Order: sequence, then structure tokens, then C-alpha cells
Amino acid sequence: MHKTLIPAIALASAALFWQGLPAQNINMETDYASWPAYTGADLELLVDADATHFTLWSPRATAVKLNIYDNDTTATPAETVAMRRGKDGTWTAKLPGQLYGKYYTFTVTAGGRTLAETPGVWAKAVGVNGQRAAIIDLDATNPDGWDADRGPVLKNITDAVIYEMHHRDFSVHPTSGIANKGKFLALTEQGTTNTTGEATGIDHLRELGVTHVHILPSFDYNSVDESRPDSAQYNWGYDPLNYNAPEGSYSTDAADPAARVREMKQMIQALHQAGIGVVMDVVYNHTAQNDDSNFSLTAPGYYYRHRPDGSYSDASGCGNETASERQQMRDFIVNSVKYWAKEYHVDGFRFDLMAIHDIETMNQVAAELRAINPSIIIYGEGWTAGDSPLPIEERALKENVDKMEGIAVFSDDIRDAVKGHYSNEADRGFATGKPGNEETVKIGIVGSTAHPQVDYSKGNNSKFPYAGSPTEIINYVSCHDDLTLTDKLAKSMPGSTEADRQRAARLAQTIVFTSQGTPFMFAGEEVFRDKKGVHNSYKSPDSINAIDWTLKHDNAEQFAYYRELIKLRKAHPAFRMTNAKDVAKHIVFDNISSPNVISYSIKDHANGDVWREIKIVFNGSDIPFVARVPRGDWKVIARNGKINADGMGSSRGGSVVVEPTSALILAREK
Ligand code: CA
Repeated sequence: MHKTLIPAIALASAALFWQGLPAQNINMETDYASWPAYTGADLELLVDADATHFTLWSPRATAVKLNIYDNDTTATPAETVAMRRGKDGTWTAKLPGQLYGKYYTFTVTAGGRTLAETPGVWAKAVGVNGQRAAIIDLDATNPDGWDADRGPVLKNITDAVIYEMHHRDFSVHPTSGIANKGKFLALTEQGTTNTTGEATGIDHLRELGVTHVHILPSFDYNSVDESRPDSAQYNWGYDPLNYNAPEGSYSTDAADPAARVREMKQMIQALHQAGIGVVMDVVYNHTAQNDDSNFSLTAPGYYYRHRPDGSYSDASGCGNETASERQQMRDFIVNSVKYWAKEYHVDGFRFDLMAIHDIETMNQVAAELRAINPSIIIYGEGWTAGDSPLPIEERALKENVDKMEGIAVFSDDIRDAVKGHYSNEADRGFATGKPGNEETVKIGIVGSTAHPQVDYSKGNNSKFPYAGSPTEIINYVSCHDDLTLTDKLAKSMPGSTEADRQRAARLAQTIVFTSQGTPFMFAGEEVFRDKKGVHNSYKSPDSINAIDWTLKHDNAEQFAYYRELIKLRKAHPAFRMTNAKDVAKHIVFDNISSPNVISYSIKDHANGDVWREIKIVFNGSDIPFVARVPRGDWKVIARNGKINADGMGSSRGGSVVVEPTSALILAREK
């Protein structure tokens, strides 16, 4: 989701599903803080040895009905039960026996109206299109060996290399060699190749060397019709329906509620076995629907922020925004991510439009997740897509990241400075020859921390060192939003050759991957994938979004560059410092007056590196630059568009030519 409210983009994903619904919320209540909260983790469904328990939180309901169905399709319930008032705003019902295989919904009466049926907000399994909750034995969905399943151990988030992918983009192209196209199971297939024999799928990820895949929304979302699995449908999934169940269109059988659960676990297990962690993209900031969302149908009004006239406020640009500052919503977010971490062994979370949430909620999220697994990583978009009633000082904004503990934010500073403005497609950046971005790139290099040689007043986006530590920063040049790097380069470098553009991409990513902070890349850029110039492909067809794996053959050198770049970063802790003091001490910039050139050293075995000094020069101009390098025994790591993490020749230093649009990296042990 986007930084700035641009109608065509901000109305992405969920837009189709709220347009046409009444803009006014019936609920004008403002005293939500007085509603009791229920802290139990057994909300909605609990199956024990001899009974099935239902507990719905709905403090202002005057009646709640539980509807039990024998299956997902029959029109009438097999049984309807009047629920009783329980404690802390709940309604309860207990039915004898373990009702595995049955489905249920709730019907709430509140404010004098009987609302439409809802599977509730805590459905952990659902039928087709998420209309009814399913009662399944979760333990029976565990793949063999699940108890022993562990994600990668990560000492610091800066040790991660994050690869952002959509299930369908990654596997659906005919050249993927993958059988389970667009499914969770795609990532369980070993030994898949494209038509020329290069690895695809999970083997490709292993070869590339990324540590984490970040999967676009994989909880149950609204837009793709799960009853038509054979029709090619596409959506990014930023239109949440059921937050605690997997998306059915990624399962091999959406009509089997256990299949999506089991298959998502199989995917995570396979990635873990490949040494790769899984980050879920979570979208608690808004729902696909307003009055018809599961939040509205269980506790009307409560879960959302409103304007003074009672209408939905809309910091998401998608029609509504949730109210994390309210206890039950805060608990919902915290318990939901804990559930994914425990039940699915998820290794990290990326929060969409995180600044819609309040700082306190995010701190609670981080503390509780770390208690489950200290290796869990948490990061998010430190902005909103519109104004919010939540006070700015309480928002989990990029500028407030240092008020949060163990949470990172995306650096739009480095993103736009390196490649040019994200929405102005002709605009160039440092790597494509536009002067004036040098200081902002330096802000990226030091991970947005305070550094004596970086002048934040010259920053394009941020005017102060907002990060207290590089562990609070995610560096990137592109993601699923906006033009791919490939398309951005094509649009902003008219008259260039593909070779020129690949060179610019290498320089851009070399800046990202050698900067302090955590690097993040968009899937397929390692093979120079594009999206045919489409800015907002959230519902574009496969012809736009699918990665054509013949590119891995055609752009083999590009892939090799990315692989070596990742290998370099993983082998050298100097690129992965964990505190601002070390960054300020070990990174020394050279005074360079040439435009589009940055030269710096990482000195004195930074962060315990075997290399005493690393000399890095970025030349984003179209003329060669002669760098002054101290005399010494230097190993050449990167030069003139090529890179080898183990070195490719040596240099005695002195005057070293840095070719146009390229990075020079030299390293010495003594
Ligand atoms: Ca769905």
C-alpha cells in the first residue's frame, strides 16, 4: 500500500468491495473505551474432549444466535442455538461432542437490527470464499515432522535478506516447471527447472541465498472467487476477509477447509528445511468491507475509527481504518500474529500501513512475538495513505520508529534517492545520473542513523536521523507497489540499451545490499523481471505479474550478480552493524565534489569483520571517476558491473578508475 493518497493507486485492492456501500456508519457511539474487553485466547471456537464451545465477543448485542451447518453449501442450518451472555461482553454456547466437519456462523442483533450472518473474526478455518467458519482438528493438519520444524535462527534483523513475492507471480508462468502453479505447494516442489535447466521455485531461492521470503497477503482475502479455481484470477490480497485462516485460492482445494491450513504449513516446513524463513504480510489496518465486514457484523462500530459525523475515517485509502488503540482490537492484532507464529511457525511479519496502528500496539506485538521466538522479525510501512483521527505522536510512523522496540520501517529515503521518485516515472535518481541525491543516499548507507558526516537537512524525504539503530531500517529500491526496478529504469532512461539498464539495476542494488539496515528485494528482479510498465498491478492478469523464468537463462549474468551480492553481505558483518555508534565510528565518507559519486570506507574490522577496511565507491554518473584509494593489498570484490564475493584480482590502490554506472568494492585484511 502506498505512501501518498493518489486515487488510482490508493484505491487499490479493497476499493471494489466498498464502493457502493453506504458511507455512513450506523454506529455513532464514541465511548468505545468503556466497552469491556475479553482477554481469553479461546474466542469463538474451542473443542475439548467432549464438547464444542462457542464464545463471541459482542458487548452491545441484545441477542446472538449460533448457526450450525452440516456443510458449506446447504442453505439452512442443521441447528440454531440462542447464545447466552457470558463475561466481559461475550456470548456463549456449548454443544455436546466434537463437532469436527461442521460449519458455523453467528447472527448478531444489535441497535435494534438483526445483522447478516458472519463466521466471526476468529475463524481459523473457513469454507469456500470464507462465508462460514469450519470446525476442524488443527492438529490433524500438521505435516509429518511438524513438531520438529524450526525456522532459521537469526541473531539480528540486519542478518536477514528479504525476498518479497506473490505466490502466483512466482510459480504460475508456464516456464516455471512447477506443477502447483499459484499455490502454497509450489514452494514445496524440489528440483524444478525452467526449460533450459536453471533452477526455479524453492531451489532458485536457495541458489540466490535469500534468508526470508516475504509472502504477499496469504490470509483469507476477499477478491478472488475461490469457487472458480480454474479461472485465472489475480489479486495482491490487500482486502482482508478472515484474518486467521489462509487464503483458499492458494490451496489445491478451497472446498476442503483443512487443505489450505495443511498446505500452508507444508510450504513453511519446506522453506524452513531449505533454511529460509517466512514473513507474512499482514493487513490489520483495514478490511475489505465496511458495514458487512466480520468486525461490523460481530460488534458494529467498535473496531473502526470514525469521523465526527459517524462515517468511517479512511487512513487506508480503502474505505475504512481499524482502531488499534481500543483494547479488543489491540488484543485481536496481538493474538492474531501470535497465532500465526505458534500454529504456522511464521518467522516474521510485515505490517501494511503500519502508521494506522498506534505505537503501544506495535510494541506489544513485538514483545509478545519475541517471547515466542527471538528470531522473529517485524517491519512495516511507516506511513498512512490518508489522514487519521489517531494523533500523529501515537502513530507507528517512520519518524516514530525509535519509540518502538524491535520494529523496523521501510526507508523511502534510499528507495527514491537511488532510482528516482516512485510515481514520477521519468524522474531519475542517483544510480541513473540525476545529481542532488547524494546526501539522501548517504542517509540510506548509514541506515538513517545519526552520523557526523551526513547532513540530514539535505535529505529529500527525512530531515533528521529518525532511526536509533540500523536494525530499525529496511532498505530497498522497489517492491510490489509502483514500477518494478526494470520498468522504472526503462521509463526513466529513454534511449538506453537493456545492458545499460541492467548495469543501473546492479548499481542500485549494490547500494541497497551494502547499506546498513536490512536489505529487501522484489521477487524476480534478480532475473530482471518487469511488469510491462504497469504501476499498480494489484489485479492485473498473469501476463503482467507472472515471472517468466526464461529470463533466468537470458539474464544469467544479472542473476549471478545478485547471488554474489547476497553472498558478500552474508559473509561480512561489516555490512550488518547493529547499533548507531558502530556505524558512526566505522563508516567514513570521503569528501567528493563530483556529482553522482559517493566514496566511503567501512573501517577497523567493523562488527568483527575479517576485513580491516572495505572501500566502496558508487559512480552513478555517465563519466568515469578516478577514486583515490590508499596504497595497500586490496582484493577487488566489485568493479565495472561485475562482482565476486571471494574476490577477482587485486589492486595496489592509488588512482582507481570507477566506470560509469557501477560500484567499486575493494577490501583488505591488513
Ligand atoms: Ca478468499
